[in-house]
Amino acid sequence: MSTYAVEVVYRGIFQKRLSGNICRSIVLASRMEGKIGTAFGRYGDSPERNGIPAKYFAVVADDALELEEYLAQYEPTQVDATIVVDDTLCKGVESWAWYGLQPINALTKPGGTVIVTSYQDPEQLKEDIHVKDEPYNLAIVKGSKSFSGLWVYKDDHTDVRVLGALARVVPDMVSLESYQKAILQQWKTEAKVVSSQRSHERVHISPVEPGEGNETEPYSFEMPGWQEMEEALVIPGIAQGGGFRGGEGGFEPVRSAVFKKYSTRTMRPVVNFETCTKCTLCWLQCPDSCFDVTPDGLYDANMEACCGCGVCEDVCPVPNCITMVNEEAFVDNDSQYEHWQKNRDDYMGWLEKKIALGKSERRSHGFHHVGQYQEENAMAEVGSDD
Ligand code: SF4
Ligand code: SF4
Repeated sequence: MSTYAVEVVYRGIFQKRLSGNICRSIVLASRMEGKIGTAFGRYGDSPERNGIPAKYFAVVADDALELEEYLAQYEPTQVDATIVVDDTLCKGVESWAWYGLQPINALTKPGGTVIVTSYQDPEQLKEDIHVKDEPYNLAIVKGSKSFSGLWVYKDDHTDVRVLGALARVVPDMVSLESYQKAILQQWKTEAKVVSSQRSHERVHISPVEPGEGNETEPYSFEMPGWQEMEEALVIPGIAQGGGFRGGEGGFEPVRSAVFKKYSTRTMRPVVNFETCTKCTLCWLQCPDSCFDVTPDGLYDANMEACCGCGVCEDVCPVPNCITMVNEEAFVDNDSQYEHWQKNRDDYMGWLEKKIALGKSERRSHGFHHVGQYQEENAMAEVGSDD
């Protein structure tokens, strides 16, 4: 029996079309070589929401009986390849708020491959990806996060470049030739076939040994069994909150102990406390009530609660007081205010460095001006796979 499974981990809504394209093409290509496949999605939570990590699966088998047998389980528990179309998801995903944080490689089988679209190198990515007890491979398709969402299709060739890489790391599932036939059938352009070919040849693959990677314990929580559940649906209210860090001054709201939003982020705000005028706008406008009010009237964005929407940067009236920075630049969720209080000079140096590393251009889910497609593809031609 040779059944193969692949998962695509993506940002809900923002990358839905991209992930759907990848999985649909796997199924189509498998049929072109006489196999049978199916693809199905899992919501980030229900219903799928902007930025919340979500998954698609594709399963390919030799015949219908094999496929049926495999699909008797709810979803694959092991996959041959985990495809990650936003490298900030490498920090782990809280897809369903069922488990707490799940390492990105949790389902990757021993000897399997995690394929990431990224401009980071393997060493940088391994700072984020949690350790595993078994060896696996890390494959990098050079490129930025592609946001091709529910309503727009950003045709920057990320879908076919991933397929080209997949043919290299799981060659027995579907051949490159079949992917290319499926690409031509769907998009009717040789340009996308060429992109898949280049990616197939240039994908960077490196082995990851057991124990290599991020050693922090992913956060989890106790889940009640069905026998422990209360009768009827009981949703306890969230308490009002109190002083900053439990003290007398300031204010800190109580937040959900189990659903932390940080895994939804592709960028995060950093705050220059030296120029903040304490106008309160960020605190008032943050849709997720992320800001803790410090005893001296400043606002500290809680990095476990922040989903990275960028509203605070938009509303802050002081130029460059709040700056959105690519999430790749960070390895923890520590309090910025506490850092600033401990050592202001050190904090200001840290702030400058982080902004230089990854000041975020606006998150783009589509094309906003005529010619943007051509500009970005020209950049991809120059910047990728080299
Ligand atoms: S980016 Fe700003 S406004 Fe958005 S959730 Fe984070 S702290 Fe709140
Ligand atoms: S919006 Fe800007 S200036 Fe106003 S309180 Fe927030 S950080 Fe300070």
